[in-house]
Amino acid sequence: MTADGGWTDLNAWVEYLGEIGVRDLATNAAGGAPTPPVEASASDSDSDSDSDLDLGLVRDDLGECTRCKLHVGRNKIVFGVGDPNAKLMFVGEGPGAEEDARGEPFVGRAGKTLDKMIESIGLSRAEVYIANIVKCRPPKNRDPEKDEIETCFPFLVRQIEAIAPRAIVALGSPAAKTLLNTSTGITRLRGQWHDFRGIPLMPTFHPAYLLRVYTKENRRKVWDDLKAAKARIDE
Ligand code: URA
Repeated sequence: MTADGGWTDLNAWVEYLGEIGVRDLATNAAGGAPTPPVEASASDSDSDSDSDLDLGLVRDDLGECTRCKLHVGRNKIVFGVGDPNAKLMFVGEGPGAEEDARGEPFVGRAGKTLDKMIESIGLSRAEVYIANIVKCRPPKNRDPEKDEIETCFPFLVRQIEAIAPRAIVALGSPAAKTLLNTSTGITRLRGQWHDFRGIPLMPTFHPAYLLRVYTKENRRKVWDDLKAAKARIDE
């Protein structure tokens, strides 16, 4: 692990899994060079799937959104990234500083950890879809507020409907609580299957939390949740 708590490469992640006693790592985890991420747009001339087209329509409807107060401080809207036909979708809370600068979810330190989490179940970032509850950065990385979530949520729902994943992983408390419309915290929700409009949903700890509370127990729990998600999409 690096001094800042991130994993420098896949070998380090594999070592880490070894440390916590994991022996059944998917063998194609490295899987070759990941293809560049794709952000959907209705104007993509080579969009040949309905999911791609639908996602593009959602993006176009969102436009240069000014529907809530988060637009005031944002640099870029962080719509979502990945395969429009992904079987597995990850939903986080909201963009941080690096995501706001680049317009792509989970590209900062927590994002590097999420990438390793995804690779640990034999998938790449390009094979899943990653989005957030809110698409603009909350000031000082505070939690998104109720009115902001209510304004943005319909766009996430449309993204989920367009992608129609076989399973969703909710990353952290705000994502899990919003998607499941509950006040129950992540510690009680995680590790069990829930339902989001007919799609199985597995809540797990947010990668930023995992980095903050870097215990073997927490890493093991996240690994168990992700393995369950992988098994579910492979059914
Ligand atoms: N944390 C999130 O919840 N989402 C991001 O995109 C980045 C960090």
